[in-house]
Amino acid sequence: MKLVELFKEKQVYSFEVFPPKRTAPIDSINKTLDGLKDLSPDFISVTYGAGGSENFEKTFHVAKAIKKCGIESLAHLSCIGLNKDEVDVLLEEYKSAGIENILALRGDLNPSVKLSKDFKYAQDLIEYIREKGDFDIAGACYPEGHPEAESFGEDLKNLKSKVDAGVSHLISQLFFDNEDFYYFLEKCRNMGIDVPIEAGIMPVVNKKQIERMVSLCRARLPKKFLRIMDKYEDKPEAMRDTGIAYAVDQIVDLLTQGIDGIHLYTMNQPEVASKIHRSIATLLS
Ligand code: FAD
Repeated sequence: MKLVELFKEKQVYSFEVFPPKRTAPIDSINKTLDGLKDLSPDFISVTYGAGGSENFEKTFHVAKAIKKCGIESLAHLSCIGLNKDEVDVLLEEYKSAGIENILALRGDLNPSVKLSKDFKYAQDLIEYIREKGDFDIAGACYPEGHPEAESFGEDLKNLKSKVDAGVSHLISQLFFDNEDFYYFLEKCRNMGIDVPIEAGIMPVVNKKQIERMVSLCRARLPKKFLRIMDKYEDKPEAMRDTGIAYAVDQIVDLLTQGIDGIHLYTMNQPEVASKIHRSIATLLS
């Protein structure tokens, strides 16, 4: 099923997982998926390690495992280290496995990745996939602006061209202040970006996670959030519970405001997703 259809029916509720790390067997993903499938997400997306096609096998395996659970999968694909001939091979594999949904990304700039000669921005990949005609294409967006963009306004203009290139829905970067998301949403709609936009929510359950996240995506941490983290950083259980409560509070407000959907960054922790789910299940129509 193409994901665009889901948004016509309801507020969508989806999860993100990553393939197992190098040291873990690939089938260890089954334990994660077993824990997530009972929560009945509308789809599960699986990340793609930035770099060349060597990262494909793991993402492909997990995307197929998601489908085997009876859940729609969305396979991430970052183009920064790929050329057209490589993308052709990967798309053929997806097509033959019945995977119809691709989250088309550029990937983070990284000195160890040999840059693609064919794709500079996600938009280039989107145009290329769209020519093939077989896929529903999602894209990434940044409620606080992408860190490399000259300005918030420039980033929005680039987002508009990306969507016009063939994106049928957007998934946002994580954020901790819903007002930032509402402001972004309003600007998108004013600019004519009218595809569904899912809000990306990450429950922060330990201090290391915040440090990594802030260095990667530079999300703004509101005072309310910092006060909680300061108070409980040395109490792992309290930190986990307050991180979950904070995410639930964000989701309740977002659903109440009628947004298109919630994309939960599960960090492969079904027990955390499950606690969140218990608090919001009755809100999901
Ligand atoms: P783009 O849309 O290409 O934007 C990158 C920058 O270029 C922005 O500053 C933008 O304003 C600018 N830009 C875009 N188009 C143009 C243009 N035509 N002309 C001039 N400037 C332009 N990374 C991974 O490696 N693997 C993953 O699985 C993954 N999953 C993600 C999932 C989500 C929901 C999100 C939000 C991010 C994810 N990322 C992932 C991170 C992402 O790859 C990085 O944020 C990356 O830096 C940008 O990717 P993009 O697709 O948004 O790029």
